[in-house]
Amino acid sequence: MSESFDVAVIGAGPGGYIAAIRAAQLGFKTACIDDWSTTDGKPAPGGTCTNVGCIPSKALLQSSENYEHAGHAFADHGIGIAGLSVDVAKMLARKDKVVRQNNDGIVYLFKKNKVSFFHGLGSFAGGTAAEGWRIEIKGPGAGTIAAKHVIVATGSKPRVLVAGDAAVAFDNSLILDNDGALSIPEVPKRLGVIGAGVIGLEMGSVWRRLGAEVTILEALPVFLGAADEQVAKEAWKVFTRQGLAIRLGVTITGVTIGKEVTVEYSDTEGAKQSASFDKLIVSIGRVPHTASLNAEAVGLKLDERGFVAVDEECRTNLANVWAIGDVVRGPMLAHRAEEEGVAVAERIAGQHGHVDFNTVPWVIYTSPEIAWVGQTEQQLKAAGIAYRAGTFPFTANARARAMGETRGFIKFLADAKTDRILGMHAIGPLVSELIAEGVVAMEFGAASEDIARIVHAHPSLSEAVKEAALAVDKRTLNL
Ligand SMILES: Cc1cc2nc3c(=O)[nH]c(=O)nc-3n(C[C@H](O)[C@H](O)[C@H](O)COP(=O)(O)OP(=O)(O)OC[C@H]3O[C@@H](n4cnc5c(N)ncnc54)[C@H](O)[C@@H]3O)c2cc1C
Repeated sequence: MSESFDVAVIGAGPGGYIAAIRAAQLGFKTACIDDWSTTDGKPAPGGTCTNVGCIPSKALLQSSENYEHAGHAFADHGIGIAGLSVDVAKMLARKDKVVRQNNDGIVYLFKKNKVSFFHGLGSFAGGTAAEGWRIEIKGPGAGTIAAKHVIVATGSKPRVLVAGDAAVAFDNSLILDNDGALSIPEVPKRLGVIGAGVIGLEMGSVWRRLGAEVTILEALPVFLGAADEQVAKEAWKVFTRQGLAIRLGVTITGVTIGKEVTVEYSDTEGAKQSASFDKLIVSIGRVPHTASLNAEAVGLKLDERGFVAVDEECRTNLANVWAIGDVVRGPMLAHRAEEEGVAVAERIAGQHGHVDFNTVPWVIYTSPEIAWVGQTEQQLKAAGIAYRAGTFPFTANARARAMGETRGFIKFLADAKTDRILGMHAIGPLVSELIAEGVVAMEFGAASEDIARIVHAHPSLSEAVKEAALAVDKRTLNL
């Protein structure tokens, strides 16, 4: 007879493993199934985020930034380095070690919380809400389990480029997905990147800092269209000055693969262009990962774009079957997946789990970093909402000057009448951390005056946040 659980989670990415831990904390007998393996066949829970996404990209961004600082910024501090070199193999090995530490951390957390982990591919094998859902596991942890509630958290996979009529398959030798982009064995001389989104900009930055000539080809005519225009404009200025060649409004018409990769494209004016690269990263978005679920066996409904169809509470069309994270609608971000995981576990327990999409922060870990929460100026204008804006540049922040990191600014947008904060937008040093203040403020319904009246440590980057809030009322103290 198959073992029965209260909750079974399929997928142990940030959505799935957090959902499993929260379900176990709430007293449910919980299973989590995940198929990701290390090269030697061991379980590697953590999903895309831990294995080939958030974590390894940040490890390489840190290593490459250290290298760039040592080569360029240290001299300003009076520090000279003779014979600076980079050992890519060692850098990649360090990145892999950071990933393993995170995999091991999740294995430990499962044990600590008494979550039963099954290493393998889970798929629906029948059942009903009344009798429980049956899940078949194939792989090292093979077997069948039954569960009263199932949380689908199978994530996403990279979208394949279609050039003209032909699909350009990933080979992770010349045509790289995010996995390949994080494992290039030596610095390519010419690196092409298709897609100027978060992943393209982060990966392009890593390899540019290490010495590659990087060209980014983007289909959209505007740069970072989802960001506030003022931030996007500043980012464009900084990134192009750093040496990233970014071409907008491009239509890829063909890709030829030989010793090198040649990309044929038409530019904004429709003129035919071509460029050759030693490696090509394709980062044009991600698609939901549902193929292995055997959704048809139970009639689990997918939407027209292939995502598992859910309502705003992550309920699917099947009673007691839920879905969270990248496999459902919404921003493909690890923290959104995690929060949905917590909320669903709490809903199963009869509590009122909630995720506020309006306060989900966005971060791009380039240098300078970019971060935002809430609405942009262009969104407020389009919605006809009257607002006041306050901006403060890092050039006027003492800590930023001491760090030698004065690029960028913080900006608040506040309702013109009530002063309630509607958005915070930032480009500059460690804004991935500073954005948390904007998120907290918005969650608590704060006004810009609230931030302006809070004591911020001196000297700190957070003083730029306070000053931007003061700027909403046109009364900065240090500008
Ligand atoms: C290069 C890169 C950098 C990124 N950086 C960031 C970042 O800095 N911050 C951020 O918030 N987001 C980042 N993301 C996005 C983030 O990784 C995803 O939003 C997040 O991983 C989604 O979590 P998830 O749990 O929904 O799915 P995933 O992390 O994709 O996990 C799903 C898991 O389910 C497994 N699985 C799938 N089908 C089955 C099955 N049938 N049976 C068993 N297991 C199955 C998969 O193998 C995988 O382990 C990045 C993504 C990439 C590619």
